[in-house]
Amino acid sequence: MEISKGKAVFLLLCLIFAVSSCGGLLGPLGFEIGPSESPDEPGSDRLLVVTSIYPLTCLVDEIGTYRVDTQTLLPPGENAHMHELTPEQMTQVTDADLLLRIGGGLDDWVLRSFAMARDRARRISVTDTARSRKPAARPGSPDSIAFDSSTIDWSNPHLWLDPLIVRDVVVPLITENLIAADPEGKEHYQAHSARFRSQLTGLHEELKRLMSGLPSEKFLSDHPAWTHFAQRYGLTQVDVLQTCTASEPDPATLSRIIDDALEKDVSVVLTTRGHSDQLARRVAESINAALVEMDPIGDPGEPDRRGYFGLLRYNATRLRRALSAEQD
Ligand SMILES: [Zn+2]
Repeated sequence: MEISKGKAVFLLLCLIFAVSSCGGLLGPLGFEIGPSESPDEPGSDRLLVVTSIYPLTCLVDEIGTYRVDTQTLLPPGENAHMHELTPEQMTQVTDADLLLRIGGGLDDWVLRSFAMARDRARRISVTDTARSRKPAARPGSPDSIAFDSSTIDWSNPHLWLDPLIVRDVVVPLITENLIAADPEGKEHYQAHSARFRSQLTGLHEELKRLMSGLPSEKFLSDHPAWTHFAQRYGLTQVDVLQTCTASEPDPATLSRIIDDALEKDVSVVLTTRGHSDQLARRVAESINAALVEMDPIGDPGEPDRRGYFGLLRYNATRLRRALSAEQD
C-alpha cells in the first residue's frame, strides 16, 4: 500500500506523540528526558565531578543538572587559599571523572588529592586555561554585553565573582569538558549551558542596578577577592592588605595603605569568611571604617548564600549596604 507523503508525516507525528506521552518527561528546555535519566533516580552512571571550591560546584550543577554528581573538597567556612585535606577528603577523588580547580595559585592544596584520581580523569585548572585563551569580546552573540577581556587581570583567580567572566569564559570551559567526559550528554550540557548563560546576563543586569548610585564606591579588602567584581560594577578597590599568598605587609607598606585610605575617605574594609581578620580590624580602626565580612565561597548549608545566584546576591547586598551606610 502506498502512503502519501502527507499521511506519512501525520503517522510519524502520532508515533512521536504516543512515545513521548507514555514514557518520556519533557525537560524544562523542551528536550526529552528518558526514564533512565529521571532526576529522581539514583545516578550510578552519572558523571562524578569533584571540585576544589563550592562556587565551581554550583556552576557544574547548573550545566550538568541530573547527569552529574558533584562533590566539593573545601568544607564550608574554610580558607580556600590554605586548606589541608584530611585523608578521608583526599580519597573523595578516587572515582572522579572530572576534577575541577580554580588554579592560579589559589587552591594548590588540592593537587595532592587530584594526583590520587584515576589516570583517565580530566583535570582542569580554570584560571590557567582562561589565562592561556585570553577570550575575545563576543559582540553579536545572543547574550552579548560589551566584554573587554584585555582589561581583566587573568592572574587573579577570583574569576567566579564576575558573572560575565563566568558566562563567557568559565561556563563554556566547563561545558566543553563535561561534553568531553560524557559525549552522549552533549545536547543536554549545551542546552543547560545556554539557559544558564542567559540567566547570568540577567544576574549581571540585576547586580549592575544594585551597585549603582552608591554614596561611596571605595573599599579596602583583606585580599584581592573582589577585584573583578569591583571592576565590573564600577567600584574602587583602593588597596588590598595582602596578596593571595603573601603574609602581612611590612610596616612601611601598611602605613602607606592607611594614609592613602584616609586621604581617599575609605569607609569600608572587607574581610573574608574563614580568613583571620586581625589585620583588617586594626586597619579599620585606624581609619574609622566599618569592617564587613564577605563570603566569596558561599555555603550550601546557608539558604541566603546557596548556589551561584545566592552567593553573588548575598555578597553584593552586603557590599551595597556597607557602602550605603552614613558616612562620618
Ligand atoms: Zn580568595
